Order: sequence, then structure tokens, then C-alpha cells
Amino acid sequence: MKAGVHPNYHVTNVTCACGNTFESGSIKQNLRVEICSNCHPFFTGKQKFIDAGGRVDKFKKKYGI
Ligand SMILES: [Zn+2]
Repeated sequence: MKAGVHPNYHVTNVTCACGNTFESGSIKQNLRVEICSNCHPFFTGKQKFIDAGGRVDKFKKKYGI
């Protein structure tokens, strides 16, 4: 990789919703993710409910639950 060709690419800290943090290469800084290799069901072997984007909350509000 030539220097200066990818000026915005650097190693950044990625924070997962489970609290796990790890480093990854990205053009963004301080990324936040909802799932990572530490808590993904594929890696943990456990089935886990994931409320992506708060869809359950919207559903509850819609029906007044
Ligand atoms: Zn995680």
C-alpha cells in the first residue's frame, strides 16, 4: 500500500453493544456496532434475541403495550 493513497484509513476502536471493544481498520473513528464476534450467536453457540434498530420498541408503542 502506497503512503498517501489511503490517507483516511487507520486503526480505530470498535465498540459493540455487548460492551466488547476491539481494534479494526476503518476510515471512521470510534465505530459502534450491535454485534461482534464476541456476542454473535454463531460464535457463542447460543441463540440470542437481537433487537436491531429498536423495532420491538416501535411495535410496543404502536400497540400501546
Ligand atoms: Zn458484541
